[in-house]
Amino acid sequence: MRKRHLLSVQEETALLREVETVYEELANRPIERFCLARTNCCRFKLTGEIPYVTRGEALLAARAWRASGRKALEQTSDGRCPFLNPSDQRCRIYSARPFACRTHFCAAAGGPYRRSEVLDLIRHLEDIDRRLHNQCGPRPLVTAVTEALRKITAKENGAR
Ligand code: SF4
Repeated sequence: MRKRHLLSVQEETALLREVETVYEELANRPIERFCLARTNCCRFKLTGEIPYVTRGEALLAARAWRASGRKALEQTSDGRCPFLNPSDQRCRIYSARPFACRTHFCAAAGGPYRRSEVLDLIRHLEDIDRRLHNQCGPRPLVTAVTEALRKITAKENGAR
């Protein structure tokens, strides 16, 4: 069996930069939505919906979480996203929030984007994941970010 090429830190960083360009491209699309910051979509028990993320998105979110000095995700018992700050009700990784958080708007904000409006960007995220050697497809946010945090810690420990 052919041995898989292990990505260097630089290669992984370049791929995560590509994830950011997908987010930037999305922000530049002329699709009108008006998020009222009600944060209902950040309360998974309330909506019954959990964002699914690619590995690239999860690694980017995990890096942002680590950059704020935190190592692991907090357990939440009220069904809120662990990134939602319980004190001020804001996302603590806002600039690195996943694609689903940027496209699945609630009815009050104008409703979710149609898949056809962003399909090319979804395909781009999938392509980045192939290059990150992810065969599993998108996974639930907390599961994917927890694994990404573990991966980052393991890399750091290996580098010592
Ligand atoms: S990552 Fe941020 S925007 Fe997305 S559900 Fe969690 S708190 Fe909300």
